[in-house]
Amino acid sequence: MENVWGVVSNIFFNLHNKITGVLKGMSLAINLLKEKGLKVTEQRASVLQKLSQHSHPQLLNELQEALGQGMNRITLYRVLNDLESVSLIKIFFGADGQKYIELKQGQSSNHKLSHLHFQCSECQHLYCVENVEVFGLPEGFSIKSDKTVLAGMCNNCQ
Ligand SMILES: [Zn+2]
Ligand SMILES: [Zn+2]
Repeated sequence: MENVWGVVSNIFFNLHNKITGVLKGMSLAINLLKEKGLKVTEQRASVLQKLSQHSHPQLLNELQEALGQGMNRITLYRVLNDLESVSLIKIFFGADGQKYIELKQGQSSNHKLSHLHFQCSECQHLYCVENVEVFGLPEGFSIKSDKTVLAGMCNNCQ
């Protein structure tokens, strides 16, 4: 943890308040699909709608649980691929090696399109972290924030 915090300075967590009112309805999920030119299917819309209920990335297993019996894993993977191919969602691995999914854009996302993630090794919560300034990287190096997950301990677990 020390070394992570040594490299990263000036972190401002933006722990978005529980998502307020955006993209709650299925109709808005449908609009997103239309905007992207994806055929509107019930499965695609319900995945988007489930993701939009959270302000932090969802564990793949949690997402599947939330979707219930109606969608098997193969269908879910196919839907996720479709949504990722038009940049509606981001799929990435957490510091725990598990697969996470988050809504990448659309009205529900207050996120900047590109941001880092921080996973607490105690509570496993995955936070979206914006406005991070990184010092100590050699000249010419940069962080590809879309794929970067920092590991450490969150303020709830300290
Ligand atoms: Zn924690
Ligand atoms: Zn995020």
